[in-house]
Amino acid sequence: MNPTNIQLIRGFKDILPGETELWQHIERTAITLFEDFGYREIRIPIMEKTELFARSIGEDTDIVEKEMYTFADRGGDLLTLRPEATACICRSYIQHKMAAQDPVRKFYTIGPMFRRERPQKGRYRQFYQIDAEIFGIAAPFADIELIFLLRTLFDRLNVTDTTAHVNSLGCPVCRPRFKAALAQILDQAAPHLCADCLRRKDRNPLRVLDCKVPGCRKAMAGAPSILDYLCDDCRTHFSTVTDTLAKLGVPFEIDKQLVRGLDYYTRTAFEIQTGALGAQSAVAGGGRYDGLIESLGGPAMPAIGFAVGFDRLAEIVAATAPLATRPPALFIAALGDTARRQAFEWSTALGVAGIGVSMLYEDRSLKAQMKQANRLNAGQVLIVGESELAAGQVVLRDMASKTQREIPVTALVKTLIEIFSPAPV
Ligand code: AMP
Repeated sequence: MNPTNIQLIRGFKDILPGETELWQHIERTAITLFEDFGYREIRIPIMEKTELFARSIGEDTDIVEKEMYTFADRGGDLLTLRPEATACICRSYIQHKMAAQDPVRKFYTIGPMFRRERPQKGRYRQFYQIDAEIFGIAAPFADIELIFLLRTLFDRLNVTDTTAHVNSLGCPVCRPRFKAALAQILDQAAPHLCADCLRRKDRNPLRVLDCKVPGCRKAMAGAPSILDYLCDDCRTHFSTVTDTLAKLGVPFEIDKQLVRGLDYYTRTAFEIQTGALGAQSAVAGGGRYDGLIESLGGPAMPAIGFAVGFDRLAEIVAATAPLATRPPALFIAALGDTARRQAFEWSTALGVAGIGVSMLYEDRSLKAQMKQANRLNAGQVLIVGESELAAGQVVLRDMASKTQREIPVTALVKTLIEIFSPAPV
C-alpha cells in the first residue's frame, strides 16, 4: 500500500519557522502600539452562532451569501467559523454588559478569520487580522485616532508606500436620500453591469459603487457622490476627520467610491491601500458602525474599528526587511555518554537563565557536532569530553575569532552566565 500524503486545505497555509519570527515582530509592534494608546486585548472564540454574522454583516453581502464556513454541529446548532472579529467583540460587549460599567472601551485582538473566497496571492481562506475597536465614542476623534494608529503601525514597520482612502457613508438620516439618487443611475447603468451588481442593484445598491469590474466602474463613473448628500451632522463629522488628519500629517485621499463590503458601516469608512501588493491592494480597512450594537440587542452605542490583513502586511514587511533568526549563543559539543548527560543538565540550567543553548542528543563525532554548530551559527561552542571532565576543565571556543580558552567545571553554569550576560556597566 502506498498511502498518499495528506495536504493542507486549499486556501489554508502553514506559517513556518523563518516566517514566524517576522509574524512575532509585527505582532509585538502592534501590541506595544495598542497598549501605548490604552487598548486592551480581548480574545474571542473562533466560532459563533451563524445568526450573529447573518444579522451583523448583512444577508446580502458576499461574506454571508457565499463565503462563510457554516455547519450544523452534532447537537444541530448552526455554527460559523468567524469571518471577521467585530461582530464577535460586539456580542461579547453586550453579553458581559460592559456598557453598564464603562461604555467607553478600546479593544484589540489578533487571530485567524475564515472566508471561502477564491484563493490567490494575498487572498486565503484562513487569514489573520489585527483588529482594533473603540466603543462608546461618537466624536470624530475616535475615527482619526484609528487611522492615525494604522499610519503609526506602518511607520514603525517601515512600510511607507501606503495611502489612507477615506469616505463617509452617511447615516440613517441622509443615506436614504443618496440611495434614491443612486437608484436612478443604476437603472440606466443596468445593461452594462456584471451579474453580481445586477443582484446588488436592488438589495445592496451601495456595493455597486466599489465593484472592481471595469464595465461596472465605467458605467458608474457618473454616479453621484454620497458626500454631496450628507446631512449637516455627517458633513461636520467628516470634515473634522479630514481636517485633523491633514493637521497630523497623515496622507489620505477622499475616495467617494469607497463603500466596503459589510452592511453595518455608518459615517467614516476607510481603507489603507498600498502599491506593494499587486491586485490585493487593501492592507487594512475599517469604519464606524454606530447602529450595530443596538441592532444586536445591546444599548444604543457608537463604535468604530479596523482590521489589518496580517498576511498581506507580513508579505510587505518581509520584502523590505527580512528578519534573521536568532542563533544560539552557545552550542555544547559533548563526547561520550557521561559528558552528554552532564551537558544536558547544563543546557537546561542555561536555558532557564535565558541563554540560548543548543546541543545534539545523539552520539555524534566532534566533527559532526562542530558542523551543526556552524549550521546554527552559534556564537561559541563548549567542548565537553570524558577527559575534560576528568581534568575538571572544559573548552570554550569562540567561533568568530577561532580562539579558545579553558573553563573550570566547578561552578560552570555560573561562569557561563557571567560570560553571556555581562553585568551592566
Ligand atoms: P475586511 O474584514 O473585509 O474589511 O478586510 C480587512 C482586511 O483584511 C483587508 O484589507 C485585507 O487586508 C484583509 N483580508 C480580507 N480578506 C482576506 C483574505 N481572504 N485573505 C487575506 N487577507 C484578507
